[in-house]
Formats: sequence, structure tokens, C-alpha cells
Amino acid sequence: MFHARSFKHCKTCGGVVRYQVPADDNRDRATCTVCGVVHYENPLNVVGTVPVWGDEVLLCRRNIEPRHGFWTLPAGFLELGETIAEGAVRETVEEAGARIELEGLYTVLNVVRVGQLHLYYRARLLDTQFAPGPESIEAQLFTEEAIPWDQLAFRTVRETLRRYFEDRRRGQFELHCADIG
Ligand SMILES: [Zn+2]
Repeated sequence: MFHARSFKHCKTCGGVVRYQVPADDNRDRATCTVCGVVHYENPLNVVGTVPVWGDEVLLCRRNIEPRHGFWTLPAGFLELGETIAEGAVRETVEEAGARIELEGLYTVLNVVRVGQLHLYYRARLLDTQFAPGPESIEAQLFTEEAIPWDQLAFRTVRETLRRYFEDRRRGQFELHCADIG
């Protein structure tokens, strides 16, 4: 059975954890062999944006693993206490130092293999003054022709960009939901 974030020790008492099906449940859960606490694990949300300036899209080159040196849309894990829109804006500020105005929610991508849900908004850049944070080597605008397709960090980024340029050619943006293998 798939466990995205298997852990070995209880977060409550430090005891050894074993994966087993609790009473009245139907799947393996990380269960403490000492205090009996069940640690539920659920998919993580990754939120980000497609920041646009004219016919160009803003990408960041990653300064962190995984995929150090590869290009990505600004995105990261949603934090407790924020909405997905707030998280998307925060990640764009943190990674690119870019000022944006959110437009519609654009892609909802299941990445079941790694236990994640990726959500991207379309966004309008308010200016071209970028200040990449420590997680980025640089932030740069790209036309469709200049996108470094073979140096993109993640399939969800590739999928979101591909659909963005397709929709732009059609002159109509709509919400896309897809499963990424
Ligand atoms: Zn315990």
C-alpha cells in the first residue's frame, strides 16, 4: 500500500509506529505501538501561479532540491491558516519577489503517486521588478517559444504551461482538472 510520508516514530510519545488497519477503518494507518495514537496522513496541497506580463510568463530557477537548477512556476506547500489564493500569492512573493493580481483558478492536478494536489492560479504581474528569494537562483520572463521545456522542474508545471498556451491561442481560459501519473 502507498504511504506518501511514512514515518517510524510516534509524534506524541516517540514510540515505534506500525502500519495497521484500526478498528472501524478500512486501510493501513500509522499506529503507535506504545500509546495507540493513530496518525492520519493525507495528501498535501501545493499552490502556485502562472504570472503573466504581456505575452510572457514568469518562471523561477530552483535554488533548492529537488530539481535544483530547473525552472518552475512559483509554487509551494499551502500553510495552515491560509486560503489557497493566499498561499499562491505568498509563494509568488517568496520565490520571485513579484507583485501580482490573481485571476481565475486554472489547474487542479492530482499527483496521486506522491500524495499531492497541485493548484495553479492565473495571475497578472503588476510590474517587472522581481526580487527572487533564497529558494530561487533567478526569476525571468519567457515567451512561449523561449520556455525551457526540457528544463522544467515538474510535470505539473509543464502541464499547466502547456494548457495555458493552448487556451491563450483559443482565446478562452477555463479550469482544467487532470491526473498526473
Ligand atoms: Zn505514541
